[in-house]
Amino acid sequence: MTKLPTGKPIIPFSPTADDQGNPTICHCCGRRAIGIGMAPKGDPAYVCGECVLLVEELRKVRRLDVYELAALDGAVDAMGDYINAKGLTDLQFYDELDQRLLAKAAVMGFADRLRKLLRDGAAPF
Ligand SMILES: [Zn+2]
Repeated sequence: MTKLPTGKPIIPFSPTADDQGNPTICHCCGRRAIGIGMAPKGDPAYVCGECVLLVEELRKVRRLDVYELAALDGAVDAMGDYINAKGLTDLQFYDELDQRLLAKAAVMGFADRLRKLLRDGAAPF
């Protein structure tokens, strides 16, 4: 995973379990995980309900960070679509709901693009 200058990963989707071993966050997209993990030891690499359909593709991926970087374009596209649908390009006029919906569009756009890249099986480099 790509690291920040601080040494922390850019998208910290790990650990995927809490101290009691309960699933917390999806190893792939960062949404809420369910109790299906991909790793036999260490962090269980739990995945969400949507990413569980891509477990076989995920097992083949050695470096998820290149997919994550390519999936950022999905977040940008989704934010652009939201802003165009809203018809208001100056974000200072967005109320709290609009701000949250814009952020949700980015998160969903990222996750959807990441799953699409994995499903298509084409390496994004
Ligand atoms: Zn997921």
